[in-house]
Amino acid sequence: MSSFLPEFAFSQAAVRVRFAPGVRHDTGAEVERLGCRRAIVISTPGQVAMAHDLRTDMGEFAAGVLPLAQMHTPVPVTQEAMLQVGQMDGDCLVAIGGGSTVGLAKALSLRTGLPQIVLPTTYAGSEATPVLGQTEDGVKTTLTDARVQPQVILYDAELIRSLPVSTTVASALNAMAHAAEGLYARDRNPISTLLATEGLRAFRRALPDVCRNPRDLTARGETLYGAWLCGTVLGQVGMALHHKLCHVLGGSFGLPHAETHAVMLRYTIAFNATATGALLDPMREIFDDGDVGHALAIFADSVGAPRALRDLGMREADLAGAADLAMSAAYWNPRPLIRDEVLGLLRSAWAGEDRSQGGRG
Ligand code: NAD
Repeated sequence: MSSFLPEFAFSQAAVRVRFAPGVRHDTGAEVERLGCRRAIVISTPGQVAMAHDLRTDMGEFAAGVLPLAQMHTPVPVTQEAMLQVGQMDGDCLVAIGGGSTVGLAKALSLRTGLPQIVLPTTYAGSEATPVLGQTEDGVKTTLTDARVQPQVILYDAELIRSLPVSTTVASALNAMAHAAEGLYARDRNPISTLLATEGLRAFRRALPDVCRNPRDLTARGETLYGAWLCGTVLGQVGMALHHKLCHVLGGSFGLPHAETHAVMLRYTIAFNATATGALLDPMREIFDDGDVGHALAIFADSVGAPRALRDLGMREADLAGAADLAMSAAYWNPRPLIRDEVLGLLRSAWAGEDRSQGGRG
């Protein structure tokens, strides 16, 4: 199966992206460049010190700090943040943090029209997509809207040095999952395949160095480059079974976002490798292994990734329900989905088995 499509469409949002250690010190200048005066700085409660440092650094270009972001962007939190935004006299948003912080900035931008500058501190990649997931009454829904795409992304490797190694590994595998599923996406195009391949290559090369020395700025910078590439793929093409399962496990069973991706990746890609012919060849080449499920397992183990859903708090009794949810409103997938095979895949991932039921590929 050839990966080249003779006809394709490619669209790209007008996003300004900068990579440089210390680029956060230009945040005020970027606010001005957007034609704005005063930014509201958004973070999680855990990163409020980082947000205050940035606010101080921005001087007159900062209106204040809003440290309210939470995982999965709960709508009641956004509503509370909206009240505060109304009192802060800001004309743009600056998000400093991971996917949760970017989620709140996107939710506020959707409701106010304020432009966004993002300083990512994980590899989740949300800053590179026009996608927003929000949770209300225990249900997570996703929307795609050009209005939530941040206008400016500042990748500062100094900011991500504090990300603990275990979170670093999980977040990196989360990013790699966007690229892996992008390679076999139904609406892939030659550009998305280039981006996915280069993103995977960056993590393959730099993540082991980051794990050896989390303060290595060069390796951190290369992983951020990988995160941007992989996130751009996520914003460009549709995702498949891997993302659907992670959405179900996180949204309905409360499993942690990045860690769930990290566990599932070896199983879902092995499962789909049997139905994707040459489309995963870039991964086979990058990992120098014809069996991509095996290659991902070796790589994930080598950087100490979590192996089993049961270690993340998943109950065995909930696996059948998760399989049912994955089958309802299923995403398009290159391998036709049979409920018992999906359940078998989940059982393998729950137990942390060496091989999934997908077989070699
Ligand atoms: P996160 O943003 O929740 O961060 C995890 C934890 O790490 C938080 O407590 C955070 O404060 C802390 N942290 C982040 N960076 C740090 C740093 N440099 N140093 C120390 N601590 C740091 O987790 P995430 O995995 O980045 O994002 C997950 C969320 O993003 C989910 O809600 C997911 O649905 C969403 N997401 C959305 C998209 C999209 O395109 N819409 C893409 C990916 C993820």
